[in-house]
Amino acid sequence: MKYAESVIDLVGDTPLVKLNRVVEGYAPTILAKLEYLNPGGSSKDRIATRIIEAAEREGKLKPGGTIVEPTSGNTGVGLALVAQQRGYRCIFVVPDKVGEDKRNVLTAYGAEVVVTPTAVAPDSAESYYSVSDRLAREIPGAFKPDQYSNPNGPRSHYETTGPEIWRDTDGRITHFVAGVGTGGTITGVGRYLKEVSDGAVRIIGADPEGSVYSGGTGRPYLVEGVGEDFWPSAYDPSVVDEVIAASDAEAFALTRRLAREEGLLVGGSSGMALASALKAAEKLTADDVLVVLFPDGGRGYLGKVFNDAWMRSYGFLDAAGERTVGDVLR
Ligand code: PMP
Repeated sequence: MKYAESVIDLVGDTPLVKLNRVVEGYAPTILAKLEYLNPGGSSKDRIATRIIEAAEREGKLKPGGTIVEPTSGNTGVGLALVAQQRGYRCIFVVPDKVGEDKRNVLTAYGAEVVVTPTAVAPDSAESYYSVSDRLAREIPGAFKPDQYSNPNGPRSHYETTGPEIWRDTDGRITHFVAGVGTGGTITGVGRYLKEVSDGAVRIIGADPEGSVYSGGTGRPYLVEGVGEDFWPSAYDPSVVDEVIAASDAEAFALTRRLAREEGLLVGGSSGMALASALKAAEKLTADDVLVVLFPDGGRGYLGKVFNDAWMRSYGFLDAAGERTVGDVLR
């Protein structure tokens, strides 16, 4: 019989798929790593597993303990899934820009969710960082994974995601592109790929226009899960050769094309990573192999990037893209 002992054993080992139509006109082979195929639906399953196992080993998480974390949703799913399997309570603090569907997923896994306003400074008492600190302080037996500073985040990508990419490309990868949120993915994967290739693989961060990684101040943007208004310690800028910014409009246009043209229903940060990857690909040749990481799936964003009215309300979709009954029947 072939089966996994538990859902936790299904985390990782995600496939690469070649992009075809959306990369037409670009010379290199462009491969997407499909992290939405993790059981919780995102790359964050990897860090959750590693962070909880380390906390248990270090005595920071004891039986009956509570996990408290500020999260845009995906880290929460990963943590909820692992916590549930091991009998921990989970409380997640989520900014209000995160879609309701994503929050409902957290509660479906048995977690509790506290919603905080997006439009406040990080040091405000209402910010999602402050609220989660307070909960972690006041709840007995609470453990705050702190994905922004926990070294087990980048380590999980160093130990799993990086080696998978190297193995599956037979060491032929020349460029790696990933969006930067906590920075854990790019730091862990980037460090591994640099080491194993003697520095030959070029590591490129994708960042929403306005975020600090590409020189901004943290001005609000709509793409979720990436960009920051501070520099987290999970991010090691020394492994990143270049950061390429992409606008919400570019990110969302490509996200929609990925669903329609490649059959890949992914989130907006995947479209953003691809937007930056394509900017990098303009200078590359047919000998290059670029791997771009797609962190999560599109189902959590059906009311946003895949909703024409929402897209139109921000000016991301013009009337030319729409079809009426008359057009279809003509
Ligand atoms: N995309 C999405 C949808 C995410 O949830 C995250 C994690 N915040 C990222 C990208 C960025 O990954 P990382 O935190 O490892 O930089």
